Amino acid sequence: MKRSRLTKIALLVLAVTGAAPALAQERVLNLYSARHYQTDEALYTNFTKTTGIRINRVDADDAGILSRLKAEGAASPADVVLLVDAARFWRAEADGLFQPIRSKTLEDGIPVALRGADTGNGSQWFGFSTRARVVVYDRQAVKREDVDTYLELGEAKNKGRICTRSGSHPYNLSLFAAKLVEWGPERTEPWLKGIVDNMARAPKGGDTDQIRAVAAGECSVAITNSYYLARLMRSDKPEDKAVVDRVDVVFPDQQGAGTHMNISGGAVARHAKNRDAAIQFLEYLASPAAQAYFANGNNEWPVVKGATVDNPALDRMGTFKMESVPIAKIGAATPQVQQMLDRVGFR
Ligand code: FE
Repeated sequence: MKRSRLTKIALLVLAVTGAAPALAQERVLNLYSARHYQTDEALYTNFTKTTGIRINRVDADDAGILSRLKAEGAASPADVVLLVDAARFWRAEADGLFQPIRSKTLEDGIPVALRGADTGNGSQWFGFSTRARVVVYDRQAVKREDVDTYLELGEAKNKGRICTRSGSHPYNLSLFAAKLVEWGPERTEPWLKGIVDNMARAPKGGDTDQIRAVAAGECSVAITNSYYLARLMRSDKPEDKAVVDRVDVVFPDQQGAGTHMNISGGAVARHAKNRDAAIQFLEYLASPAAQAYFANGNNEWPVVKGATVDNPALDRMGTFKMESVPIAKIGAATPQVQQMLDRVGFR
């Protein structure tokens, strides 16, 4: 009697300790994300469904994520960091917030121009989708041929026409940096001064605000990322339809270097505790299913060859020549651009 009771206890102990490792084995991934698009929910759920890895997500804007990573240092729980724009990837890499990884899937799938420079131990970040920085104009007030190059935005014929967000915003910093790489400083700084001289109003708001300002007649030329326009094109709201009816879009520099492209991408955090799961997640973002989410959900272009796009707004924008300046080079040129902006008074 006594003996069997002891056996029972022993069995119970065994069962409990046996269960403990199974619990500890639940795989998790701590994700810091600056992508706050509703459609991304499906992207994460699908990953958990296929891998069993649970995702803990921290959402913040890009600047917030970078300062949080810095403040947390080695204690940071972050495994994967998702950001947008070359300027920010460059900043984070320079601040030592990422770590290089090797992955045949990522190296085969993602074009060299859309990932961090090889450190010898692999790249520190990878682009998973692209967006174009386009010009939207009032189709009644502006001739297309007056705004189909970036250079013309700084020419006198466009005086009083331009609406833009802040020059220091990463989207603009990266566009200007790409032109600096392409043109050199002698041509770039006067161009920036020309844009300032052509502004219809002081920079304010985000890209969508600039498109709306064109439709409202406050200005007639706006610089915007492509997905903001695509979002308006897909909207059912009458006021958005009215905006889309009033404007047209041009992909600049089709006869030259091509339209400026930027990325949304990801990286393994410097102090990742779940490094394998982090790499697995980045590889998942390069999969056909995830690539389709980017294109169809947030109106961005997939980067992996053969990924399918099923998006009426992207179809309507058509195909175009894309700029080929490596994203890493653009990021590295942004500090010099900021100095130019300060000199020419581009706030
Ligand atoms: Fe954006």
